Amino acid sequence: MEKSNGLRVILFPLPIQGCINPMIQLAKILHSRGFSITVIHTSFNAPKASSHPLFTFLQIQDGLSETETRTDDNTQLFTLLNRRCETPFRDCLTKLLQSSDSKTEEKKKRISCLIHDSGWTFTQNLDKILKLPRLILNVYTISYFRGHFVLPKLRREGYLLSQDSELDDLAEEFPPLRKKDLLRLLGEKRELLEPYLNMILESTKSSSGIIFMSCEELDQGSLSKAREDFKVPIFAIGPSHSNFPASSSSLFTQDETCIPWLDKQADKSVIYASFGSLASMTGSELIEIAWGLRNSDQPFLLVVRDGSVKGTEAIPEEVMARLNEKGKIVKWAPQQEILKHRAIGGFLTHNGMNSVVESVCEGVPMICLPFLWDQFLYARLVSDVWKVGIHLEHRIERNEIERAVRSLLFENEGEAIRERMELLKEKVERSVKQNGSAYRSLEHLVDHISSF
Ligand code: UDP
Repeated sequence: MEKSNGLRVILFPLPIQGCINPMIQLAKILHSRGFSITVIHTSFNAPKASSHPLFTFLQIQDGLSETETRTDDNTQLFTLLNRRCETPFRDCLTKLLQSSDSKTEEKKKRISCLIHDSGWTFTQNLDKILKLPRLILNVYTISYFRGHFVLPKLRREGYLLSQDSELDDLAEEFPPLRKKDLLRLLGEKRELLEPYLNMILESTKSSSGIIFMSCEELDQGSLSKAREDFKVPIFAIGPSHSNFPASSSSLFTQDETCIPWLDKQADKSVIYASFGSLASMTGSELIEIAWGLRNSDQPFLLVVRDGSVKGTEAIPEEVMARLNEKGKIVKWAPQQEILKHRAIGGFLTHNGMNSVVESVCEGVPMICLPFLWDQFLYARLVSDVWKVGIHLEHRIERNEIERAVRSLLFENEGEAIRERMELLKEKVERSVKQNGSAYRSLEHLVDHISSF
């Protein structure tokens, strides 16, 4: 770690796993560059402060009830959080700014800026009062973040196909999605989406910069287009999962028996199947996935998070006994460690941004099964653009899953995918190393923050 530079940065993550992990990673990166870190967080899904002894954590009360936190509509949850957190956040930050005049060594470090998740939109209301430069951490890829502002317009105009044969065509309004993905995305229940997206757009445009945990190598042409769209400095500082693992920011208890189990399996033989912290499926979909994995006759590690199966349908005992012959089922796994393990041959994933990037950083080819929101786009990047995975085309059927596992592990298609994945992994690794594009962008970010 570099010597302290006398500056403090305030970070404010959105309280879901997929947003906390990149924010904590950013905290680790900035800390390694000499910045002191204070994380302001909600009481809902509070990160474990004891896992990060070098950072200061301050909790604000979000006032969410148990029922409010259990909604499966994220836009509703984020809109509510924005409404409830404005006052407690403003009070907390005002106090912090006042105390930076304090005499104690730690507190008197000058607060240079606030970096918050793009999903916090009320913060722009505080710009005039607090006069603190504000940067946005964006947990999407650049292409998704640019593209998703078109959704309300398409929804209003009614996005229709002239014939079913167009379903597999590219959606020109939002590439690399196909028309069928766009229809699914537009079919999601999101009444509050339009005002929420407008606020995100305004808050982003009035910020002092946008940070993406992505890099030019992953987001090709989107970076220059985003610079034209937003007209604020943009930093694509790259995925740094290998140097700054996010596992310490897990909100769930990780099942540590996974690694000794993997140690007993052959190289590149295991399929790891996990669907992140938000996606949910029906009991029969879960059973199709589990049978597909079992019938492939390959060892598998399947994560079934509490609450991820709709309704009460459990896996019947006799099915469990068959599954256990080849597989291991856990509630939450140390994902980054697993993806690094020599025994892993493929990742059946919901294509959350973090999961995709973690998989690329470890060179693990994917089987894509997106469920909602930005996952559709990342699945297309994986299967159609980078060509480092097989897309299930939304068919949650045991035969399809078995076939995808076999193709990935044993057939020519899988061999070609592995070769391309190795090249992509190397490109991303080069990007975060000295003089790589992400490395240079991080240098600019450090200069930018230091200049405030
Ligand atoms: N994760 C994990 N263990 C699991 C499943 C997921 O540690 O069993 C982590 C994973 O490594 C990733 C995050 O949870 O960093 C999930 O983020 P992602 O963007 O993939 O999906 P989301 O949860 O936002 O849908």
